[in-house]
Amino acid sequence: MAIMESSIRPDEMKLDGGGVEAFRHRLSGVLVCPGDQNYEAARAVWNGMIDRRPALIAYCANRQDVIEAVDFARTTGILTAVRSGGHNIAGASLCDGGFVIDLSRMNRVTVDPVSRTARAEGGALLADLDAATQAHGLATTTGVNSDTGLIGLTLGGGIGRLGRKHGLSCDNMLWAEIVTADGQVLNASEQENADLFWGLRGGGGNFGIVTAITYRLHPLGPTVLAGSLVYEWKSVRDALRRYAEFSAAAPDALCADAALITMPDGSHGFAISAFYAGSMDEAERVLRPLRQALTPIADRIGPISYVQLQKAGDASFPRGHRFYWKAQFLRQITEAAADALIDRFPSVPSPRSFFVFQQVGGAIARVPAGATAYANRDAAYDSFPVSIWSDLAADEANIAWAREMYAVLRPFGMNGVYVNNLGDEGLERVKAAYGENYDRLVTLKRKYDCDNLFRLNQNVHP
Ligand SMILES: Cc1cc2nc3c(=O)[nH]c(=O)nc-3n(C[C@H](O)[C@H](O)[C@H](O)COP(=O)(O)OP(=O)(O)OC[C@H]3O[C@@H](n4cnc5c(N)ncnc54)[C@H](O)[C@@H]3O)c2cc1C
Repeated sequence: MAIMESSIRPDEMKLDGGGVEAFRHRLSGVLVCPGDQNYEAARAVWNGMIDRRPALIAYCANRQDVIEAVDFARTTGILTAVRSGGHNIAGASLCDGGFVIDLSRMNRVTVDPVSRTARAEGGALLADLDAATQAHGLATTTGVNSDTGLIGLTLGGGIGRLGRKHGLSCDNMLWAEIVTADGQVLNASEQENADLFWGLRGGGGNFGIVTAITYRLHPLGPTVLAGSLVYEWKSVRDALRRYAEFSAAAPDALCADAALITMPDGSHGFAISAFYAGSMDEAERVLRPLRQALTPIADRIGPISYVQLQKAGDASFPRGHRFYWKAQFLRQITEAAADALIDRFPSVPSPRSFFVFQQVGGAIARVPAGATAYANRDAAYDSFPVSIWSDLAADEANIAWAREMYAVLRPFGMNGVYVNNLGDEGLERVKAAYGENYDRLVTLKRKYDCDNLFRLNQNVHP
């Protein structure tokens, strides 16, 4: 893999048993090594395709542990990965023979309802933030699968249901605390280390390990109007056209994702997943034209708690299954693009797989492209085939299908791609994710991590 280049193997590193034991004693958390009882569980990540065997996995208990781990990584020269939710599609948070700094035990979220802010530790999941903020009738933008790592998602941007109304997760970041490659703890905000703050809002894990982020919150719920409309395959062309028109004209408070799917009976279908961030009456009014335009075989739109809604997609992404996807942004869904997808979709080898449109735009698009590291703000949809299967022997067919779906849409796609949905696609696609912001990220990388200690990511080369 490109992101694994220049790896230092355990037999090449300046590491001895005494050094490892001394590090273990300095940690308040737990160090797991091959042969330990819990090693197999500790090396598992969300994508079952990723099968790597690190030499050391440090479960950090607090900020001091993160500093110790970064110092250990720097002084030994060991290849180092950073893991929070373990959701990276290409398994960037796991490495063969190297060192994994795991933050999953640092998952506390504290909410200040008066200032409408929440402080999340570096290993919190989306579910941790949603539960804590909704206890006060507040929320901020996160993604659609509740066990995704919150900080990993935010550092790349953070696309979710509230994005069109309130911006990306990173647009709601007010402050961050980071341990940089030299083991220093820095604060980043508009007032402090503003260059770093710019880079953390989209630049991924390139600049260090983020141990906490403070988010701006917004009133929401606890009950919202949301749910899905499902259409038979025979009406897929009409339904997709209607979706394209409706979503393009939608107000910011509405977010509508859509997917080509396989139904439980094996036939194919089309589903729209709609959500409105506002009052029930307004939501009913805004969604009525979509619900009445074509008759779905199921209309599952109704009142639901926001916390429950945020978990509703979890079953579609079963941890440990094999996954492959390839993403690109779209400005619009043209008839020709829809036709190309509809023609190819039925060759899908696995009934779990789908092709998804995730709607962006709205408030996301009103932030200037150079205001944060996240660049592709003029996109209207992120789009990608999601291949999901469980049999190792079926890898080739499922990967080939996803690549073909990506390729048929390529003529209609933007050059831009969402950095958090990039797999192992190389430097050109990383540059496509950052566009004109890439050179500024290189300057920052030279300042904060010139030796590229943090390189197992969508790497900005110093
Ligand atoms: C099922 C699924 C659904 C998703 N849905 C969405 C969605 O709706 N919206 C969206 O925007 N994205 C979504 N994503 C993409 C997601 O944002 C990225 O995969 C993200 O990197 C996940 O973060 P993580 O902590 O879980 O991953 P990990 O694999 O643990 O980490 C990935 C990388 O993030 C960096 N990183 C993580 N934590 C830290 C930290 N504390 N400090 C510094 N660097 C860190 C590191 O570079 C690491 O290599 C989804 C992914 C999956 C698998």
